[in-house]
Amino acid sequence: MNKKIFKKYLNWTLDLIFPGFCPLCRNQAFADGEHYSCLSCLDELPWVTGTRCELCGIPMAGIDFRGLRCTNCREENLSFESGRCMMLLDVKGKNLIHEMKYHGVKDVIRDFPAWVERSPGFVEHLVDSILIPVPLHPKRLQSRGFNQSQWIAEAMIRETRGSSEVYDCLRRTKNTPTQTKFDRSERKKNVKNAFALKPGNCLDRENRIVLVDDVYTTGATLNACADTLVGEGFNRISVATLGHG
Ligand SMILES: [Zn+2]
Ligand SMILES: [Zn+2]
Repeated sequence: MNKKIFKKYLNWTLDLIFPGFCPLCRNQAFADGEHYSCLSCLDELPWVTGTRCELCGIPMAGIDFRGLRCTNCREENLSFESGRCMMLLDVKGKNLIHEMKYHGVKDVIRDFPAWVERSPGFVEHLVDSILIPVPLHPKRLQSRGFNQSQWIAEAMIRETRGSSEVYDCLRRTKNTPTQTKFDRSERKKNVKNAFALKPGNCLDRENRIVLVDDVYTTGATLNACADTLVGEGFNRISVATLGHG
């Protein structure tokens, strides 16, 4: 029995023995052995399904043409050429990210294939690319024990069916304070020149790069990573995040 099937049966058995409640709504017991959240909650999350900003991915009303950009992205001088996010972060979406990022609940990622089903065009954005997770500073990585962006990139790669690969080739050179309490300009200043390419990599500069992070807020962190890559000679850079907010 391969590892994936074994895990599925293990989850299914555990769900039967310890019938769980959906961590998002907490009022629906379910045991399908596959999903982390119940399907009703998954359906209710604010997925991005229609026209969107071509750089950060937020939904925008308008005709679907190339070059639609939101006000924030129009004002910024962004170093990436396109971007997608899967959902807007409402309370439930924030809870999901929070569970994964601050409580280390990797099981949240079990739902990634179900998220993909609800995000038309998202996987197409990832194919034939090198996915680079936004790195944590070694000190932060040591205290947290994992990099959630690496988990997300690995889940993404499983959906691209071998057309892309994850390459953890960026490093964070400055242990910057968390961005959460900063405004837009402080965020930019905080992460400026905070990243570098790891020495010894042999990435072809012609590759299409997709930078992966959990959340797009102002885009400052992703753009600082993109700036680093542009400085190293890359010019086909995109971004992909789970949520925007
Ligand atoms: Zn639920
Ligand atoms: Zn935008």
